[in-house]
Amino acid sequence: MSSLLSSFAKVSLGFFPTPLHPLTTLSKLLGGPEIYIKRDDHTGLALGGNKTRKLEYILGDVAAKNCDTVITAGATQSNHCRQTVAAAATLGLDCHLVLGGSQPENTQGNLLLDHLLGCTIHWAGENRKGEDIPALFDELKQKGKKPYIVPYGGSNQLGALGYIHGMEELSSQIDKDAFSHFIFASSSGGTHAGMILGRELTKMTGKVVGINIDKDEEADLPFSHRITVLVEETAKILNHPTAFREEELLLNNDYLGDGYGVAGNLEKEAISLMARHEGILLDPVYTGRAMGGLIDMIRNNKFDKDEKILFWHTGGAPALFAYPGCL
Ligand SMILES: *Cc1c(COP(=O)(O)O)cnc(C)c1O
Repeated sequence: MSSLLSSFAKVSLGFFPTPLHPLTTLSKLLGGPEIYIKRDDHTGLALGGNKTRKLEYILGDVAAKNCDTVITAGATQSNHCRQTVAAAATLGLDCHLVLGGSQPENTQGNLLLDHLLGCTIHWAGENRKGEDIPALFDELKQKGKKPYIVPYGGSNQLGALGYIHGMEELSSQIDKDAFSHFIFASSSGGTHAGMILGRELTKMTGKVVGINIDKDEEADLPFSHRITVLVEETAKILNHPTAFREEELLLNNDYLGDGYGVAGNLEKEAISLMARHEGILLDPVYTGRAMGGLIDMIRNNKFDKDEKILFWHTGGAPALFAYPGCL
């Protein structure tokens, strides 16, 4: 199956494979199934995270097309933006970020790192999903630049290839029936779509379960449908006839709390338990919510005790510094 991916341009941006290990203390404390963790918070690119895998393929395309500038969008504390700026730095590209909201009083967390890694920031007010990008693209072109738009969250077909590769990597670390569930935070869909196809291609048997972290009420299509379309589109560029259908998609919408980026008790407890019992840092927006969901499911006996669960840490801890209220 690696031959399916090998025809795509790719640049090396991280250190792989990322570690996989049991959460012995937390598993005992919860008295449920054994939990393991896949450490994509350790991809190595400027404090790491899941976008590193996606960017290896997306920036592979940037390099193949000889572009000299990348543009992407996100929230003020976007991990995707931070990793994109870092990736651009390693390849000698200019980077423009279109960030939702307005310049905050304190430059903290991912935003501090964006500045440190070197980029031009455009504040976009209400437009937090890149609505202002086309105008910026035209402007840069007129200035003689060769700009390239990295999609929101790195979630297009090329980005999804990163998580097909991630699942291939995982399948070389475990037996294909080792885990009953793969649990992770899902938000723009590229990770989810890649894992679904990667599972199919590697024949691993665990269920791919995304914990939705964003209510996303403005979107024109339901998130589950957008993930399915991305699975189909990605399968197409691979010439892989996927058997996946939307009815099979596992997206848990139970833990949306007060919306995107609002850390409530669920997230705070998960962050605290993981820090104090495993010495592992989660983030307030994604992994705190996903782990909070997993803990809640365990407490509500959603898993058998003899199952093994894999929690995929997708990174994000730099945002903690912008959330002092997480304590
Ligand atoms: C972006 C991100 C996710 C979600 O991944 P998608 O592919 O956008 O669904 C999860 N966790 C962290 C820390 C992220 O930065």
